[in-house]
Amino acid sequence: MISVTEALQIIDAANTKTSVKSMRIEKTLGFVLAEDITAPINMPPFRQSAMDGYAIRWSDDASQVYTVIDESKAGDSKHIVLKANEAARIFTGAKVPDTADTVVMQEHVEVLNAEAKIMQHPKKGANVRPIGEQVTKGEVVLKQGLIITEAAIGFLTGLGIRKITVYQKPKISILVTGNELQAAGTVLEDGEIYESNAIMLKMALKRFGFKKVKIFRAKDNLKTTKKHIKKGLKFADVLLISGGISVGDYDFVKQALSHLKVKELFYKINQKPGKPLWFGQKKEQFVFALPGNPASALTCFYVYVLPLLNKCSGGTAQLLKSTKVKSSSTLKNTTGKTLFLKALVSNNKVDFLQGQQSSMLHSFATSNALAIVPEAVETVNKGDAVQCLILHDYGN
Ligand code: AMP
Ligand code: MG
Repeated sequence: MISVTEALQIIDAANTKTSVKSMRIEKTLGFVLAEDITAPINMPPFRQSAMDGYAIRWSDDASQVYTVIDESKAGDSKHIVLKANEAARIFTGAKVPDTADTVVMQEHVEVLNAEAKIMQHPKKGANVRPIGEQVTKGEVVLKQGLIITEAAIGFLTGLGIRKITVYQKPKISILVTGNELQAAGTVLEDGEIYESNAIMLKMALKRFGFKKVKIFRAKDNLKTTKKHIKKGLKFADVLLISGGISVGDYDFVKQALSHLKVKELFYKINQKPGKPLWFGQKKEQFVFALPGNPASALTCFYVYVLPLLNKCSGGTAQLLKSTKVKSSSTLKNTTGKTLFLKALVSNNKVDFLQGQQSSMLHSFATSNALAIVPEAVETVNKGDAVQCLILHDYGN
């Protein structure tokens, strides 16, 4: 049995491979940028008005009155030539005439019979966005390693970019094992339960942008388990197996993995829940055998699977933020194991929820964090700082 820290180190040191691909920008949300992006154009590409108002040639004479001779609206490309006492009506985003150097906002101008009187003397250059004010052509604007957000997609599209090179996300197979498992929607016979790990893991993967996912199901026997592991590995870069990894007589996953020459990198972690987690590798493919208890499976997903998938996707920063907050109660840890407790973090405080057993998802469904109590900590006192893995910030 290894510690949580050792298990995380093994995952961190795993020799994952990344591959890159040029993709249409609308497909890249949440992907990691695999190239430095240089601006193909200046932004703005022409001198742009930042206001609705009047374009003028600035004068230090505040009483100067201007004759409005023309108009420039957004999208116009006409060439307006202004004399010293002339102005052009102009609108936000429109090209500022080359002969103008200042835009006076319309709120500061009174116009009567095409004569514009300026009520508030502007600064020279006011409200004119110079060419390349935001970015200049050829400049590196986004660096390799950035996670693509909707803002980045908007920004790049604003530069006319339609394809970018990103790290590919791994394909994932989920193999669910268990004779007792039935699909929701069917009627349960005695001894059966509804299977919920496949959909839960699939949704977790979806939330973090892993969309190439296939689900396989196997009964508890060695032959079918092996057959489905093979199938799963045929499709995926990473295989997640649910159940069958404990030490019961009908747990065949470990044996099947060994028969199929998947090399064990670790088995069993000194933690609760999720002790029987197994992690291994076959050439460039990775396998996690997650305990079947739903809360164990999901905990192991957040703590171990997600960092590996992130590494395979070119990510370096953690996908889930970890933060220290104050415990709102006292808690004993008599297990000698690291505890991952379903918890609610709010206002810099953490509450541990009721129902921490590994079979229980109810508390998980209403939690927003996993509070981590290290194996060496026997008592968490009220007010002590507790490391918490923030699972989401939906406000519920
Ligand atoms: P196992 O790890 O296969 O020994 O399963 C441990 C416990 O988790 C058992 O009570 C199983 O019935 C339950 N379990 C296993 N797989 C699933 C699943 N996919 N969905 C819901 N419960 C499961
Ligand atoms: Mg089982």
